[in-house]
Amino acid sequence: MPTRDRNLQPVNLPADWSVDSWRARPAAQLPTYPDPVELEAVLGELKSLPPLVTSWEILALRQQLAEAQEGKRFLLQGGDCAETFDACSSEVVSNRLKVLLQMSLVLVHGLRKPVVRVGRFAGQYAKPRSADTETIGGLTLPSYRGDMVNAPAFDADARRPDPRRMVKAHARSAMTMNFVRALIDGGFADLHHPEYWDLNWVGHSPLADEYREMVESIGDAVRFMETLSGSEVHNLNRVDFYTSHEALLLPYEAALTRQVPRHWGWFNLGTHFPWIGMRTAAIDGAHVEYFRGIRNPIALKVGPSVSADQLLRTIDLLNPDDEPGRLTFIHRMGAAAIAERLPPLLEAVRRDGRRVLWVCDPMHGNTEGTANGYKTRRFSNIGSELEQAFDLHAAAGTRLGGVHLELTGEDVTECMGGARDLTETDLERAYRSTVDPRLNYEQSLEVAMLIVRKQAT
Ligand code: PEP
Ligand code: MN
Repeated sequence: MPTRDRNLQPVNLPADWSVDSWRARPAAQLPTYPDPVELEAVLGELKSLPPLVTSWEILALRQQLAEAQEGKRFLLQGGDCAETFDACSSEVVSNRLKVLLQMSLVLVHGLRKPVVRVGRFAGQYAKPRSADTETIGGLTLPSYRGDMVNAPAFDADARRPDPRRMVKAHARSAMTMNFVRALIDGGFADLHHPEYWDLNWVGHSPLADEYREMVESIGDAVRFMETLSGSEVHNLNRVDFYTSHEALLLPYEAALTRQVPRHWGWFNLGTHFPWIGMRTAAIDGAHVEYFRGIRNPIALKVGPSVSADQLLRTIDLLNPDDEPGRLTFIHRMGAAAIAERLPPLLEAVRRDGRRVLWVCDPMHGNTEGTANGYKTRRFSNIGSELEQAFDLHAAAGTRLGGVHLELTGEDVTECMGGARDLTETDLERAYRSTVDPRLNYEQSLEVAMLIVRKQAT
């Protein structure tokens, strides 16, 4: 944990930055609200509501990410592409937590290092879209931009951006956080009781035996340590869990960006670990301007069209003092492009001696459409991108320190392949995502096992 004293040191606020300075920059992907007066009223209300996280937690996570940069930890970041207001339920939230805990158990066991657990939840309600509008049968309406902005149904009322949705998103995020915190504080994440995380259908999974063996071997290790020390291993009773989302809707993010009494600077207190999406990463754009001034650890999605020079200039803006734990790059190139696009970036950052945490998102570069009209991803491409990522980092003398995934604890059929070899026809059975296809429980666990196998070789 960071000490109080260290964080009481003044930090330099970047020159010319204010919590509203992004407003003077071109802002991609923001909706146009029809009623500016209503918008201001909503933002005023949001500014008066309590935050969702604290600066203490944010700085603790930053310390953990600094350790991941040094290879002492591995980052597991995952959750829905887009949370929805309807799916803010006990079952969905706890199932997602169960999968993430199971995956982290597999990773801790296989990698022999602590895992930093970060959910893509409690705020992942705003989505970038490839087009501002959508036309069906001659009717053109604004695109669906996530439940925080509008609704997915294709009618004018549903698609009109409604600022009140930001207040609802804040409330739903708070409910999600509250339930996750209560579960964890109540002992749900206790390593002595991995059976708490069982999902109904685990028993029938082709991966069940391998997972059970791992759980038993961890149980043995815990009991062994307890026998040696003569007491319970207390720090295994609970784990830390952090939240993240794409900080896309800047009016909302700025309303939750606050100064706190005991720490200098400005913190986004709506999440621990916000990231900049690929479509809003312009160096002179509003999003980079906003992120420049907050003290949270931050991440940037890095796509195949980014040049080494652009990346270095982005580091200059986002982490000019080379602070540990501050900056994470999440590369998402696609299985077909990573071998060509990633090495020059790794080389440039390494040559310049810049401190970043490299993380692989093997989902977003591997999206494709099927003949029967679904957006999907093939498990083989996801696995291939991840494996290549490990090899490319090893060859470049850099380190892959984490993984970023779209997943759910529900038994959906959205990505093809995996242990059950889901096909195009299977997608029709349980495709529920409103945006991108997610790994289901079994496919998620399989990714965790793949990482472990890859690292063991
Ligand atoms: C996402 O993470 O859902 C997303 C839109 O990613 P990217 O910005 O990498 O396309
Ligand atoms: Mn997505």
